[in-house]
Amino acid sequence: MSRSAPARLAAVADTRLDDTPSQWVVPLSDVLVDLAIERAAAEAIRSGWWSMGPRVAEFEERFAELCETKHSFAVATGTAALHLALLAVGCGPGDEVLVPSLNFVAAANTITHVGATPVFCDVVGTDDFTVSPTDLEAAVSPRTRAIMVMDYGGYACRMDEIDELAERHGLAVIEDAAHAPGGRYRGRPCGSLGAIGCFSFFANKNLAMGEGGMVVTQDDALAEQIRLYRSHGMTTLTWDRHRGHASSYDVVLKGFNYRLDELRAAIGLVELERLPSRNEARGRIVERYRAALDGVAGISMPFATRPEVLAAHHIAVIVLPEGKPRDEVKAAMAAQGVQTSLHYPPIHRFSAYREQSQRPLPVTDAIGDRVLTLPLFPHLTDAQIAAVIDAVLSSV
Ligand SMILES: *Cc1c(COP(=O)(O)O)cnc(C)c1O
Repeated sequence: MSRSAPARLAAVADTRLDDTPSQWVVPLSDVLVDLAIERAAAEAIRSGWWSMGPRVAEFEERFAELCETKHSFAVATGTAALHLALLAVGCGPGDEVLVPSLNFVAAANTITHVGATPVFCDVVGTDDFTVSPTDLEAAVSPRTRAIMVMDYGGYACRMDEIDELAERHGLAVIEDAAHAPGGRYRGRPCGSLGAIGCFSFFANKNLAMGEGGMVVTQDDALAEQIRLYRSHGMTTLTWDRHRGHASSYDVVLKGFNYRLDELRAAIGLVELERLPSRNEARGRIVERYRAALDGVAGISMPFATRPEVLAAHHIAVIVLPEGKPRDEVKAAMAAQGVQTSLHYPPIHRFSAYREQSQRPLPVTDAIGDRVLTLPLFPHLTDAQIAAVIDAVLSSV
């Protein structure tokens, strides 16, 4: 007996293991698929050149304009970008890298994979989730080699203080700007604030292409290291050889294949053009959340006062009232169709890192227990925004 179409769809839905957006009234994040994206991808496919080529080169050029940097290297993921940055500044065995624990785990994993040790640092406070310059200073040791800062939620870190202490101790600053394409600090673009800036184009980021990343820098010597490590340490690329610019190559260091492909660059070029208006739309939604929730029913929102920062608004987070069980709030909001998340479970509490963590991180611990991430994407409707606010207020 053949089943009706709705019954077949229901059967398919039953076999899904992921949280598909369709099950939510308001999903946490969402990509907008339209004809411009489809056309760009189709053109890249039809071109017959699928690996790194002219679209990647154009995407790099445009992205360097956004960051106002001399060099830009498109890579396979944001994690690859962080790995390349650490290799380029020369982090290795015996080195310590200062890094906030309130962060995505890629930071600690990449530091570990170059043979260095992550030293977890605290953040400023419940009103500012970026890394604390005071705690960075306290964590510096004779082995400290670099600081990997992270522009939490699209807000630049306190770079004046961080630059000053990095200079005083001779440390390289790597800026994880995965949350912050299009953001600024005292007028300077995020990504350009340290020696090297790293971006991610994962599907839920402000500029999404599925998987992808970018490394940017002003420094010619660092750029050369990044270029080599990205592609096996080879002195020429397939694309150069295809164009007849080179016929052979040497291998001058032991690198990786962290290249981006043409299909993703084609999508990235479309997304990049839309980034400024989308960041603004994100900002308007965050302000509506703030007006309705900050200071209400024991809830607070960070980043009310960072006038020197133009935020990229990657995520919208609230801090729940002290003692309120977060799982209950999440479950109550999910029951109303509103998806939430956590940014982040602190890295120093994960099984793989617990034993490596020696420093007290009181602010991170407090935030880690109380932070909740609300849905945020540029095309949230008024009704969806209202549904999120209602769900929060009826669940705390
Ligand atoms: C997404 C993200 C990464 C990792 O990027 P991928 O592209 O997923 O590898 C690193 N750091 C931060 C802060 C991120 O948000």
